[in-house]
Amino acid sequence: MHEAPETQEAGLRFAGEPAVALANGGAIPLLGLGVWQVPPGETERVVATALADGYRHVDTASAYGNEEGVGLGIRASGVPRESVFVTTKLRPTRRNPERELAASLERLGLDYVDLYLIHWPAPGSDSLWPAFERLHAQGLARAIGVSNYDTAHLARLVSRSETPPMVNQIQFHPYLWSPETLEDHRRLGVVLEAYSPLARGRGLDHPVIGEVARRHGRTPAQVLLRWAVQRGIPAIPKSTRPERIAENHRVFDFSLSPEDLAALDGLASGRRRRWPFG
Ligand code: NDP
Repeated sequence: MHEAPETQEAGLRFAGEPAVALANGGAIPLLGLGVWQVPPGETERVVATALADGYRHVDTASAYGNEEGVGLGIRASGVPRESVFVTTKLRPTRRNPERELAASLERLGLDYVDLYLIHWPAPGSDSLWPAFERLHAQGLARAIGVSNYDTAHLARLVSRSETPPMVNQIQFHPYLWSPETLEDHRRLGVVLEAYSPLARGRGLDHPVIGEVARRHGRTPAQVLLRWAVQRGIPAIPKSTRPERIAENHRVFDFSLSPEDLAALDGLASGRRRRWPFG
């Protein structure tokens, strides 16, 4: 076992959780709970469970149909609103971000979100950006960003905006990543946030992951999450099961070695696919 004291994430924190800086001067916790495909009727329980386990970051979207449950879960947890980083997303086929965010806030029962994203790059979605900038200026969206943007598209939006996107949330895990993508985001000053960080639960049984997990006395899921957060990449695994929710949060008390990281890096096919992914 290569147990390390909790020192590597000793830097920036959000409500006590290891975090990375955002261009708005705030910070986003490195680990969050994703709630895509969490049934609306279960969302309150799942979110309250995660917050009780120490999560301080929840990722939803208007398209997930469970924003009400996210708000209920936050209130049921007793954790103060300002101690939870809440992301939601706009369906870009809806052309009025002001009206859509107001509706999301109503469903969430909140008066601001910590991060508001354009969910995917629909035709003309960049024309929605000035409305995102206004929502940011009004404090209704503390941070603004995009999702599923490729680097060239992201660079165009950065160069044309007064307030550039602060986050791009994309699928990113050892099976689907590239050092160039990471480097491009750093160069652009945009935080790359990893969705489907467990590769949707498929491929956790790969022998390379199993070997690293065994060496550290950890689970394959913890190894994949550690691979992201150790590089300063926020990751938002989804689970509805209390034991997995807890397991996925315990990734800040061990470190992967350079050799572990290199072995995991080698799982990528080397080709990034474009959204939508199969
Ligand atoms: P994940 O990579 O988080 O994998 C989720 C799957 O892994 C589920 O089947 C879950 O099952 C299983 N799982 C969770 N924890 C463990 C564990 N410890 N051991 C074994 N299996 C586990 O995939 P998602 O695609 O759900 O992505 C996570 C989040 O990312 C979403 O919820 C959403 O918030 C965001 N996202 C954003 C997208 C976008 O377009 N911006 C697109 C896709 C996702 P179970 O629930 O039964 O535990």
